[in-house]
Amino acid sequence: MPDRCCVTNCKSNYKSTKGVYVSVFKFPKDERLKSEWMRKIPRQDFEPSQRSVVCEKHFHDDCIIRYDEILRNGEICRFQRKNPKLKPGSIPTIFSWMPIILFGTRTSEKEKQRRKIEEK
Ligand SMILES: [Zn+2]
Repeated sequence: MPDRCCVTNCKSNYKSTKGVYVSVFKFPKDERLKSEWMRKIPRQDFEPSQRSVVCEKHFHDDCIIRYDEILRNGEICRFQRKNPKLKPGSIPTIFSWMPIILFGTRTSEKEKQRRKIEEK
């Protein structure tokens, strides 16, 4: 079971995405960088656990290393990585596509019901 993105309203790797797998990244060990991540992530009172992950949709493509490059016979060969990784110091910045702005909005009963169903 792939890890689910911890960003509110992001459904990456939830059952409802029907097996479309999105790469996820664990929170950095560096405390300063980690607090930068938490400042960016629009989720109140959130303390990431060891298993919390953020999916690739929140990172600029420039931050993600998808290929390994190996010099072979004077030529650079590119190999697609099975697990993409983040460049050091990357911070998630892309949350603008989310349909609901989280701070200060009240969730309607209907919306809560819908989410409950989806999380099952
Ligand atoms: Zn996500």
